[in-house]
Amino acid sequence: MSQAEKLSLIGTWTDTVNLKKLYINGEWTEPAGRETLSIINPATGEEIAEVASANAQDAERAIRAARAAFDTGQWPSMSAHERASLLTKLAAKMEEHQEELAAIETANNGKTLREAQGDIAEAVKTFRYYAGLATKPTGETFETTEPLVSRVVREPIGVCGQIIPWNYPLLMAAWKLAPALAAGNTCILKPSELTPLTAIRLFELIDEVGFPKGVVNLINGTGPNAGQPLVTSSLVDKIAFTGGTVTGKHIIKEAAGNLKKVSLELGGKSPNIIFADADYESALDYAAFAIFNNSGQVCSAGSRLLVERKIYDRFTKDLAEATKKIRVGNGAAPSSQMGPVISKQHMEKIEKYIAIGKQEGAKLICGGRRLLDEDCGQGYFIEPTIFIDVDPSATIAREEIFGPVLCVIPFDTEEEALNIANDSPYGLAAGIFTSDTAKAERMAKYIRAGVVWINTYEQNLVEGPWGGYKESGIGRELGTYGFDEYTEVKQIINTLKVEPTGWFAD
Ligand code: NAD
Repeated sequence: MSQAEKLSLIGTWTDTVNLKKLYINGEWTEPAGRETLSIINPATGEEIAEVASANAQDAERAIRAARAAFDTGQWPSMSAHERASLLTKLAAKMEEHQEELAAIETANNGKTLREAQGDIAEAVKTFRYYAGLATKPTGETFETTEPLVSRVVREPIGVCGQIIPWNYPLLMAAWKLAPALAAGNTCILKPSELTPLTAIRLFELIDEVGFPKGVVNLINGTGPNAGQPLVTSSLVDKIAFTGGTVTGKHIIKEAAGNLKKVSLELGGKSPNIIFADADYESALDYAAFAIFNNSGQVCSAGSRLLVERKIYDRFTKDLAEATKKIRVGNGAAPSSQMGPVISKQHMEKIEKYIAIGKQEGAKLICGGRRLLDEDCGQGYFIEPTIFIDVDPSATIAREEIFGPVLCVIPFDTEEEALNIANDSPYGLAAGIFTSDTAKAERMAKYIRAGVVWINTYEQNLVEGPWGGYKESGIGRELGTYGFDEYTEVKQIINTLKVEPTGWFAD
């Protein structure tokens, strides 16, 4: 399929009537209000669609539908094999439509088609993995010293409100929906108001697969209007949130009303540590990939690059040269290697951080400007940017910029690298590049982060746990860990001796 054909897939699809609807109780329904979200292609700054914007009344309708589907037992007590079969069918449908989904993602989020195709493939894998996990036995039995047998079972939690960000729109939807549904919960998904399009297409496929009514619902809308009612409702049993740390802190407070379960996947300022004995070429390649992939809009981006002083000058010079060659442009064009950032507002926030970096005395060795040439037009493009000699206490070294801006910090010893790496309120991920395996193991042991990569970066496994230490979050997604987050643990105790206690007999 040619690029033009791929893009024409969106041209016809954005005429769908479902853009102006919400998916509640197994059907596309009209929203209660008239507000809409204007959806912009960040590569052009132009509106590509208008989407229904849900309010509290719509959220309430979706919650009640999910509540009824759970409480009638229709979904949680359906056999795991049947639930798995529906998830497998959905994965197959997504695969059938993968080019279309990728084209929609690129048009809405701005990421390159190559990145979008990778995301869709991962989303399909996530549904398949959890379809498989749904049917695998779980639980434990304990031997006890008493004449008692203890059996531990895992049960679904109930109604889950799932709130996701804009940087991986479809993939984040898959990370949320797949484990929750596999475990027997019912769901209400609230995508980012900036990137609702692939979620709408996904729910059209969900409708074709034919999940029971109310099991899986979609409300698009803003955080305060559509997200907040899920967080505060006493009919919701769990909130799973991915987004910024400030929003996450707000959510955990607002969710306290009925003490619902809360899992949070938040921001990061991850250190990527390059020792002088590392394989030079791959460390150089990964240093750029870790920060400029997805235009730096990755929670685990290697945004603090720590380089051993022995190779610091050569490494930073080579990195700047390689970075200047990155082809920035519309993600839909096959030649583009890095797309725009998500919005005008976000672009301006990144520009502010670049200005702060300069004011604070860091040395800019590459990039630092908005791109406004004939290829980039009115799109939200920022040059891949590198600051060197950054003080670890500088604002740009401490706060999450969430854009293509790298801070490079030199170090002399392993201990110093470790101290700088851990000196952050965040603890999502870290990278270590060295050929000394014992050193790599020491660093991996003492770094306070949920994911540590050795001689690689941003490699993700659906089978492994994902999540952060410290202010990067609470709980884990993916793997069996992600499945367990959508279950309650019940202990059932049975006696081997049926007899009265005799407690009140005397
Ligand atoms: P955000 O916090 O602004 O928004 C995330 C979601 O929360 C959106 O759907 C938004 O509408 C909703 N929201 C906002 N206010 C709300 C409220 N009061 N109640 C309920 N919902 C509300 O984040 P963003 O800008 O969309 O995403 C970027 C952030 O996400 C970055 O900080 C990034 O690090 C983080 N992120 C983390 C991971 C991870 O796995 N740890 C993955 C992706 C993104």
